Amino acid sequence: MSAQPATLFVIFGATGDLAQRMLLPSLYGLQSENLLPDAMRILGSGRTELDDSGFRAFVREALETFIPAAELNETHVTALLARVHYQPADVSNADSMAALCQVITDLRHGDVVYHLSTAPRFFAPITAALGTHNLSGPGTRVMLEKPIGTSLDTAREINDGVAQHFAEDRIYRVDHYLGKEGVQNLLALRFGNALFEPLWNARYIEQVQITIAETVGVEGRGDYYDSSGAIRDMLQNHLLQLLCLTAMEAPSAFEPTAVRNEKIKVLSSLRPITAHDVNVETARGQYTAGELEDQTVPGYDEELGRDSDTETFVAVRAMVDNWRWRGVPFYLRTGKRMPERETKIFIQFKAVPHSIFGSKAISEPNALIIRLQPEERIELELLNKTPGLDRHGIRFAKVSLDFDAQEEFKALRRRPAYERLYLDAIEGNGTLFVRRDETETSWAWVDGILAGWEQAELHPSPYPAGSWGPTSATHLVARNGHEWN
Ligand code: NAP
Repeated sequence: MSAQPATLFVIFGATGDLAQRMLLPSLYGLQSENLLPDAMRILGSGRTELDDSGFRAFVREALETFIPAAELNETHVTALLARVHYQPADVSNADSMAALCQVITDLRHGDVVYHLSTAPRFFAPITAALGTHNLSGPGTRVMLEKPIGTSLDTAREINDGVAQHFAEDRIYRVDHYLGKEGVQNLLALRFGNALFEPLWNARYIEQVQITIAETVGVEGRGDYYDSSGAIRDMLQNHLLQLLCLTAMEAPSAFEPTAVRNEKIKVLSSLRPITAHDVNVETARGQYTAGELEDQTVPGYDEELGRDSDTETFVAVRAMVDNWRWRGVPFYLRTGKRMPERETKIFIQFKAVPHSIFGSKAISEPNALIIRLQPEERIELELLNKTPGLDRHGIRFAKVSLDFDAQEEFKALRRRPAYERLYLDAIEGNGTLFVRRDETETSWAWVDGILAGWEQAELHPSPYPAGSWGPTSATHLVARNGHEWN
């Protein structure tokens, strides 16, 4: 049965932080442009005891807090609130779950989307309750928030639990990076232009660097973060998804199976990293007190309130062992308390095979820099002749063809990732969600690194807040004759 637009959208965890900051504002964004199906109702659930009107006041407050006043329109707010219902439920209380399922049954008159924005340990019990009450069959779709587990085993456990009640093509695993405008533009750039494809391989590309840098520390999320660390929190999902989109072959169509079939081939080609090579293929760091944006900030241990061996920075040299990428390092790095917040992909091409301009002329390789956030821009670095008579040989300057998507499309609103993902889930399009095999293959690779760290006793090296990570990260690329962009 093909998916129909949802008639009911249920958020588990509707009273949580993510719901207030992202999910409810995204529903407002869709409402404000009449993109929600006319008949669709929205049902929130959490443990907090609220009735419909109490939850409507909660939604209004979230919108007023997290959407700029200039973008809030009372007509759209009222229209959104008119769709909204609430039913409290505690996952560990069967009666309350039964009452919730009864409300879902009453409100439902077609397809349903469930977004499980709760701790992952609730995913299997929630889907089991839905199954028991006949609410998980065809015409239902379930969105699972990250993280899907903390290892291959725990991911399998969650996936097995959910699979008992939902078929894989109706399970939508969220990696909100895939909902970002700039990330989808990476696909547009690669597969909408003929220019790059002939150069997009080991013959012409020297190295690729993918960076997700944050300036924030762990703030109130210390306990969650400490059990996870940078490799589980950011590399296993976001960085590996960006790697897939950068490295994959052209899918036959922009549709779920074709796109995900290509991504899984990349993940399956990742060369394992083990205890033998973690010291040379990875770098692990933890921030200490330092200066950031003219402020002194505390170290991780201090923020957490205890000593910890968890990494807040990770860098890895990932090798994609296939024909296209043989020998090309993909350096992945992510960290907290970095000097700048930025997500970017840096692609360095090979130098010209022979310089006709003599040894005095600089010969810098070309580079393509795709900035995904906070800026969305694409820079192509080229060498240009410096004007002059050059009687002693041509002089070069590095110049940049620089395209700023925010400036170019300034008349258009930038959509938050969850608007894209919610609309796709409502309409039954899974292209920008993660398939089970992708999650598990990523975990298998990351588990290998984690086991390697343990066996080799590779503890995080300190780096001062406001720096680009530990010196081991510099050595990681320098060992291969590269430096971080
Ligand atoms: P949160 O603020 O702690 O909210 C958790 C939600 O789950 C609340 O609505 C809470 O209800 C509900 N809940 C807790 N225990 C429950 C139970 N026994 N039965 C039913 N509902 C229960 O968490 P969050 O920050 O919104 O994050 C939600 C999920 O998204 C988590 O899995 C997190 O890892 C993931 N995530 C969060 C972020 C983020 O930036 N916040 C980013 C990516 C992924 P009450 O509050 O009413 O008790």
